[in-house]
Amino acid sequence: MRFTKAETVEEALHAMAAGARPIAGGSDLMVAARQGKSPLPESIVAIDRIPALSRMDADERGMRIGAAVSHAQLEVDPRIVADYTALADAAALVGSPATRHVGTIGGNIMNSSPAMDTGAPLVVLDGRVELRSLDRTRQIDISEMWTGPGQSVAAVDELCTAILLPERAPRSGSGYVRLEYRRAMEIAVVGAAASVTLAPDGDLLAAISVALTAVAPTIVSVEIPKEAIGRPVDDDLLDRIAVAASERAQPISDVRASARYRKHIVGVMARRAAASAFGRARGETIGVPLNRTAGIGAP
Ligand SMILES: Cc1cc2nc3c(=O)[nH]c(=O)nc-3n(C[C@H](O)[C@H](O)[C@H](O)COP(=O)(O)OP(=O)(O)OC[C@H]3O[C@@H](n4cnc5c(N)ncnc54)[C@H](O)[C@@H]3O)c2cc1C
Repeated sequence: MRFTKAETVEEALHAMAAGARPIAGGSDLMVAARQGKSPLPESIVAIDRIPALSRMDADERGMRIGAAVSHAQLEVDPRIVADYTALADAAALVGSPATRHVGTIGGNIMNSSPAMDTGAPLVVLDGRVELRSLDRTRQIDISEMWTGPGQSVAAVDELCTAILLPERAPRSGSGYVRLEYRRAMEIAVVGAAASVTLAPDGDLLAAISVALTAVAPTIVSVEIPKEAIGRPVDDDLLDRIAVAASERAQPISDVRASARYRKHIVGVMARRAAASAFGRARGETIGVPLNRTAGIGAP
C-alpha cells in the first residue's frame, strides 16, 4: 500500500490523478476496512493537514466550510450555531467526542451513506459542494450530489474542497433531529432536517424545506404543499408536514427498524425538526444537543 501526506490541495489532486484515494479523519474508510466491508485502497493520500481545507470563512454571501472541518468544530462554531443551526445539531449528534474530533464534513458527505447526519441539514440550507480535480473546479447543489448508497456524482479524481452555504434570510431558523435507540455511538434510525423562513411582519410562513435521513437510498427532500406558504405554523401545518414526510419515505427494513416503523416515525421527526426550526426563526433559544458535547445524559 502507498500512503502519502498532502500539504496543499494541489499535492492532493496530483496524488488523486495518479490513483490515490483521499483520507481525512479515516472514521469511515478505516472502520469499513477493519470490519471487512471494503479493503483499504492500494494508494491513499492524507488530506487532514492541508490548512486550506480546515478553514471556515464567512462573508456577505454566506459561509465557506473547508472539507476537512471536523464535526467538533462545527458543533460549537458561533456562526454555524446561530445561522445554520441544523448543521450544528447534526454535528453534535455524530458518534462520540473522539469520532467528532477526527470525522470531517467532507468525509461525511463523500462517504454518501443515506444515514449521514450532515446531509439533510445541508440540503435544507441550500448547500453547494465544491469539487476540484487537476482539470477543473465545479460546484453542484448538494441535493444533486448522491445517486445511491455509497455513490455520488463526484469522479474518482475529484476532491471535495468546500461546502458553501448561502447567507440566510432574516427570520430564518433550522433544526435537525434523529431517532436513535441509545445516546452514543449510534447512527440514525431515521432523521429529519427543516428550514423555516417567516414573513418580516408576522409569524406567517414565507419559505420551508424539509429533508430526510435514512429512509431512502439517498437523502431526500420532502415536497411541502404550496398552500403552506402564508399560513401560520400551527399544529395543523406541522401535522401536514409529518404526513408529507411519511409519504415521501421509501425505507427498508433491517435489524434496527422495520420499514413500516421508519415510515411512520420519520413523520414524527420531520414534525419536530419543523417545530424547532420555527421556534428558532421566531428567536426562541433552542440549544443544539449539548448532551453530546458534555457526554452526559439529556440536557
Ligand atoms: C464509532 C463511529 C460512530 C459514527 N457515528 C456517526 C454518526 O452518528 N453520524 C454520522 O453521520 N456518521 C457517523 N460515523 C461515520 C463517520 O464518522 C462520519 O461519516 C465522518 O464524518 C467521516 O469523516 P472522515 O473524515 O473520517 O472520513 P474518511 O473515513 O476519511 O473518508 C470517508 C470517505 O470519503 C472520502 N473522502 C474524505 N474526504 C474527502 C474529500 N475531501 N474529497 C473527496 N473524498 C473524500 C474518502 O476517500 C472515503 O471514501 C461514525 C463512525 C464511527 C467510527
